[in-house]
Amino acid sequence: MGFPGIMTDKDTAFQNEPSCRSDHDPRSLPVEAAWERIRTVIEPVHGTERVTVRQALGRVLAAPVQSSINVPAQDNAAMDGYALRGADIPAAGTQTLACVGTVLAGASFTRAMQPGECVRIMTGAPIPPGADTVVMQENVQCAGRQITIQAAETPGQNVRPAGEDLLQGDTVLMAGQRVGPAELGMLGSLGLVEVPVYRRVRVAFFSTGDELRIAGSTLEPGQIYDSNRYTLFAALQRLGVEATDMGVVADDPHVMEQAFTDAASFADAIITSGGVSVGEADFVKEIMGRLGEVAFWKIAMRPGRPLAFGTIGQARFFGLPGNPVSVVATWYQIVQPALRRLMGEDPQPPMTFRVRTANALRKRPGRTEFQRGVLSRDGDGELVVTTTGSQGSGILRSVSLANCFIVLPHDGGDVAAGSRVEVQPFEGVMG
Ligand code: AMP
Ligand code: MG
Repeated sequence: MGFPGIMTDKDTAFQNEPSCRSDHDPRSLPVEAAWERIRTVIEPVHGTERVTVRQALGRVLAAPVQSSINVPAQDNAAMDGYALRGADIPAAGTQTLACVGTVLAGASFTRAMQPGECVRIMTGAPIPPGADTVVMQENVQCAGRQITIQAAETPGQNVRPAGEDLLQGDTVLMAGQRVGPAELGMLGSLGLVEVPVYRRVRVAFFSTGDELRIAGSTLEPGQIYDSNRYTLFAALQRLGVEATDMGVVADDPHVMEQAFTDAASFADAIITSGGVSVGEADFVKEIMGRLGEVAFWKIAMRPGRPLAFGTIGQARFFGLPGNPVSVVATWYQIVQPALRRLMGEDPQPPMTFRVRTANALRKRPGRTEFQRGVLSRDGDGELVVTTTGSQGSGILRSVSLANCFIVLPHDGGDVAAGSRVEVQPFEGVMG
């Protein structure tokens, strides 16, 4: 098949092992505890580099950014209008002022303004010395070189003070902050050319399973196309790591050991899918016993209960369950935050909020469920969540149809239609 580590040899020794499918296990680890454990163990990669500001998009700052200038550099007009001295605003009635010039954005008016004078000013233009107020042009009566203003104006209004955005000397971005559109704009507004970021995190990933075939091949009975590598490729790409796709690895201890050894030789993290349920886990366990240290966790979540986490050499290892929806759930709830930590961030739990569910939801106590839902507005404009239907962990379409996770808490049971549930939207505003 042309990928390193791909084998079609059958290792049937574990195919008939019982699979761990009983749903409630008091020894399972709650999701939050798993997340917290991973978070405390993982530290940012060592190694930083300087990159140009545009290249910093999606990267994590390795040092705080201090502002070397005020942004804006000078007091400037927030409106098109007339700059004047606040003291010239009349206590009652109107006041006529002499217009002694014009100042456009990018220009400056250096003569100090005298009582009874004003200057025509455009948005963003620096406030002339002596002036402290801008009266918007719509509030002014203009006659030749004179304007008349009302008592209703307020001294100091419509002026953006120097440094109102970024103050010289302030820390404006923190180490560990991911650079998104707003941060990139801020770096731009400081006139910076380069910034220090953590080096790129290298992630190797592969799928395991004798039943898996790669795109372009023909399926024999019992075989399926590998989808998890595509899901993980996309997720890793979005996260901004350097991802290496190592293909499909057969359920064969020798092949698997080779794949792990190869991956550990260059990767900071290794992500696999499949082969971590009971029986298969023992098999991976045996390899891991030799290559590194790995804990096999039963996480009290659905989908996505079994998860292997540990180290192989320098590399962190995340062994995800094989079911495609379990891959999505364990990726978003556990692996992605862990990789963010490795990338230098201090990830926070995803934002959730409570909305009404349109449907009754089935749920067993003792595990956190990440059901898939569609957030929409009902006739009254109120947010409501609707289930995507069947929640089987092989139904990847349930994720594609959804725009949120419906997070049903560990201890809760069935949920009645109309009650409030926690939702986690898939997309942030500034993805
Ligand atoms: P496992 O965790 O290896 O027992 O796999 C659980 C289920 O997920 C089985 O039905 C597998 O066929 C399926 N599965 C495992 N890996 C993949 C994959 N890469 N793409 C699609 N389905 C998979
Ligand atoms: Mg498998």
